[in-house]
Amino acid sequence: MRKPTRRSCKICKTKFIATYDNVWWCCPEHGYEYSQRILARKKAESERKRKQEAQQERRELKIRKKALQPLSQYHKRAQTAFNAFIRQRDSGQPCISCGRNSGAKMNAGHFRTVGASPETRYDETNCHIQCEACNSYLSGNIGEYRPRLIANIGQAAYDRLMGPHEAKKWTREELDALAAHYRAKLKELKQREAA
Ligand SMILES: [Zn+2]
Ligand SMILES: [Zn+2]
Repeated sequence: MRKPTRRSCKICKTKFIATYDNVWWCCPEHGYEYSQRILARKKAESERKRKQEAQQERRELKIRKKALQPLSQYHKRAQTAFNAFIRQRDSGQPCISCGRNSGAKMNAGHFRTVGASPETRYDETNCHIQCEACNSYLSGNIGEYRPRLIANIGQAAYDRLMGPHEAKKWTREELDALAAHYRAKLKELKQREAA
């Protein structure tokens, strides 16, 4: 027992005289309703926590899984981002090799191939928009590519591209950064085009 105090009911706001410390309701019905309300609040809170923990777990699992990925997966992502940037940079331009603009899907075609010259796989002077026929069926149609490439980037850049390149070993972090860099550049190009 305590000194009776005036309180307003948590449910209906009616004033009542509380004779016990833990009583916040005017009548048993509102007492029940109030307990249900507290229960629901606790349930929602624990549900929110559970979801948060599950999300955190998924995030950590994703990081662990990614760390186990071979370097080639990182290259694949970086190359996809780089190629998408090249296609956007050159969009609307004709094929670098045959000069045709078929309107069909165009590719990002490397002059020096990724296999033969891995050091230049992310070199912007080494990659241009190319039609499917030249890219896939004519293995890049290099003979036709060369003169248009020189006209496009200039002799000095061509010589630099064809010159020796230091062997390059990318780390996972570098490849992630490279992918992010080209995603950002692509976004910028698209925004500029839309403006
Ligand atoms: Zn009440
Ligand atoms: Zn072509």
